[in-house]
Amino acid sequence: MYIGCHLTIAKGYKKAAELAHSIGANVFQFFSRNPRGSSSKELDMEDVEEMKKILKDNDFGPLLAHAPYILNLGSYKSRIYGMGKGILKEDYEILDSIGIPYFTFHPGNHVGQGAEYGIKRVGDALNEIITGNENTMLLLETMSGKGTELGHTFEEIRGIIDRVKYNELVGVCLDTCHIYSAGYDIVNDLDGVLEEFDNIVGIDKLKCIHLNDSMMEFNSRKDRHAKIGEGTIGLEGIKNIINHPELKDLPFYLETPNELEGYKEEIELLKKERE
Ligand code: FE
Ligand code: FE
Ligand code: ZN
Repeated sequence: MYIGCHLTIAKGYKKAAELAHSIGANVFQFFSRNPRGSSSKELDMEDVEEMKKILKDNDFGPLLAHAPYILNLGSYKSRIYGMGKGILKEDYEILDSIGIPYFTFHPGNHVGQGAEYGIKRVGDALNEIITGNENTMLLLETMSGKGTELGHTFEEIRGIIDRVKYNELVGVCLDTCHIYSAGYDIVNDLDGVLEEFDNIVGIDKLKCIHLNDSMMEFNSRKDRHAKIGEGTIGLEGIKNIINHPELKDLPFYLETPNELEGYKEEIELLKKERE
């Protein structure tokens, strides 16, 4: 089972891998740069190589980078749109150059222009970013649908993928908290939701799971993560997710409100609940 959590790389890649290993994780997620969006720091290739050795020696699964939250590729404002494209492209190039397999981002917000407009905008941006020569896959994260957020339905996700020329390099990161808030009942009908995903997007597009419980009710369109077993999805719901035949071999990344010790306990719990 590939299970881990979000960690900081502020002290380097090697340090992050050591930290992950020390809490029983064999995957992790990190921000591609400072979450507030300031520029990425110089790449230390020695640090990257040292990380890779730790990953290899300990049979790690695929690492996942997460773009800054402030990007909005759905924006009609040229400055915001241009900045988002610039940051995503720059980070994508770096991650590809160091061999990080997955890079996820929030599709964006249409801020009143309508979902169709937003989807077109995101697709156009991805066509400027992806050259077709990369190995890293860009993953659209499924969203809760707060405000004018794009990517809270499988149809919107599909709509973006369909606009991208090299869409073999585009996949999906499914956030369990977000889709439950968006109105996909993964607690009572996980099979049905996955069937719907397969029909609309294609299950082969699903690459990563953000494993989070939710503080909010089903279909609330709100985005508040809870610790595993302490939210509306509950431990039974989470158990079904990590053991589902279509999902069990995917990497799971916790983004629950925890410090290191809390993540360690959740990873232990999840390994125990794995059938
Ligand atoms: Fe996210
Ligand atoms: Fe997430
Ligand atoms: Zn969230």
